[in-house]
Amino acid sequence: MTGIAAASFFSNTCRFGGCGLHFPTLADLIEHIEDNHIDTDPRVLEKQELQQPTYVALSYINRDIGHQMESRLNRSTVAS
Ligand SMILES: [Zn+2]
Repeated sequence: MTGIAAASFFSNTCRFGGCGLHFPTLADLIEHIEDNHIDTDPRVLEKQELQQPTYVALSYINRDIGHQMESRLNRSTVAS
């Protein structure tokens, strides 16, 4: 890893779409990303699932697993 790559790896600056906000700790940065840059709209999430993304953020799985189970149950009982 080059010096620049290492520096960007260890800085707590948000890299989402030119956001650029800086946070004192990695935990603050992660919380910011989860709250501001990861979609939690059920319609968007469902669309993402249908597209079968090659990777999914672990925080997405942890946060929404309960909700997904609920929506799966609803989907199987409600005719569209
Ligand atoms: Zn950000």
